Amino acid sequence: MEERVLLVKYGEIAMRGNNRQLFVKRLVETIRKNIDSDGDFYVVREQGRLVVESRGTEINFGTMIPKVNRIFGILGVCPGIKVTDQSIENLQKTALKFLKDNYDGKSKTFKVVTKRSNKQYPLTSNEVSAEVGGYIYDNFEGLEVDIHNPETTVYVEIRNDAYIYTDFIEGCGGLPYGSSGKAVSLISGGIDSPVATWLMAKRGVEVEGVYFHSPPYTGERAKEKVKDLAKIIAMYTGGFKLHVVKFTELQLYLLENVPEDKLTIFLKRAMMRAAEKIAYKDHADGLITGESAGQVASQTVPSLAATNDVCTLPVFRPLIAFDKEDIVTIAKKIDTYEISILPYEDCCTTFVAKHPVTKPRVDVIRRSEKALADKIDEMVEAALASDEIIEVE
Ligand code: ATP
Ligand code: MG
Repeated sequence: MEERVLLVKYGEIAMRGNNRQLFVKRLVETIRKNIDSDGDFYVVREQGRLVVESRGTEINFGTMIPKVNRIFGILGVCPGIKVTDQSIENLQKTALKFLKDNYDGKSKTFKVVTKRSNKQYPLTSNEVSAEVGGYIYDNFEGLEVDIHNPETTVYVEIRNDAYIYTDFIEGCGGLPYGSSGKAVSLISGGIDSPVATWLMAKRGVEVEGVYFHSPPYTGERAKEKVKDLAKIIAMYTGGFKLHVVKFTELQLYLLENVPEDKLTIFLKRAMMRAAEKIAYKDHADGLITGESAGQVASQTVPSLAATNDVCTLPVFRPLIAFDKEDIVTIAKKIDTYEISILPYEDCCTTFVAKHPVTKPRVDVIRRSEKALADKIDEMVEAALASDEIIEVE
């Protein structure tokens, strides 16, 4: 009997020590969750890899592969078949049929590679390759053997069952979600911050988001946009907690009390303070922003230093050295781009200074903030009291 299976390869070396079992378990759970609605499948743990098998419903590779390959920690998948009758005659016939069913119409050359972890099997790996390769050569017109540079490679793996496959489709890589601690990401609705959030999540960091909302200057639709971005991130992470914090009063206060050219820096400092408080409360050990060196006045190195000055937790800026085009490429790949470019106002554009400082001095900022510090603190606390928590599934 042969049935379609999906072989799933994960980055084994990247999984550290004792937690390995836990990460593999989490990968299994996430795969199950992502494909659950498509049929009755189960995920089998084999040595160093996972195999998705079906209970009745035939696997549809076209729908299943993207859902598995977007899981962090997965290197890629091989659509294949499982062969229970491992006799060499059956392997020959099945490999030929699989190759014919999946032939791309172009390849002129092939080879067979066999891996045999079942050492009881009566033939060696090379013998299996020769037998299966010879049979394919005899029965597939137009296909020649090329050991060194084949266009198609037929893999035969002999374990408890045998598996046959030809293609490896690259997955998203990274580390299993949640394996590298937790951080709070400042998400604004633009192109950059969702990409920054995704990149950190890809490295195994559990992420939650905070959006500073300034109604009525930023409308309901701007908030919906951030929620839609959170939903996309949740497709990768399995879920996402988004804090929506009302910043209107604080922004109006800063507008009245801060020199116009330093407004953005003051606002960013207030955002960092608020985000850090959320991080402490939610047991996160870092912050994430979508800042990129030099992109705007508030993202020059002196400006970043002035913003960073209020933080005690590490601030991760994964886009710091990225060009905009490269950020856009990732945004398109992960499907946040189309939402990010919707033209709803964000609070930084509503209150933006015409001529912001590009070289603020930390000591000067500190000094001018001093007189306002208590009031800002108080207003940050008040803003956090309005924290609306949205759990995106
Ligand atoms: P983005 O594309 O992420 O909106 P940007 O290029 O518009 O970024 P800025 O507006 O300077 O740049 O914001 C820099 C970073 O500050 C953002 O990437 C985000 O992490 C954070 N940030 C800015 N505005 C907000 C907001 N309203 N709520 C939460 N975070 C914000
Ligand atoms: Mg922005």
